[in-house]
Amino acid sequence: MVKEISCINAGFEDCEFLVRSENEREVIEFARQHARNTHDAEASPEHLEQIVVEV
Ligand SMILES: [Zn+2]
Repeated sequence: MVKEISCINAGFEDCEFLVRSENEREVIEFARQHARNTHDAEASPEHLEQIVVEV
């Protein structure tokens, strides 16, 4: 099962960032780093778990 987080789902509608992996922890970690580096935003793992989708 492949998990995906996209910035669009997180509310950043003009950002095309998308991370996909079979490892949910990895997806969440990548998304947190992206949020921090690109959007200067702290994304909690709990929030990210809610927007992970299976693809
Ligand atoms: Zn983004």
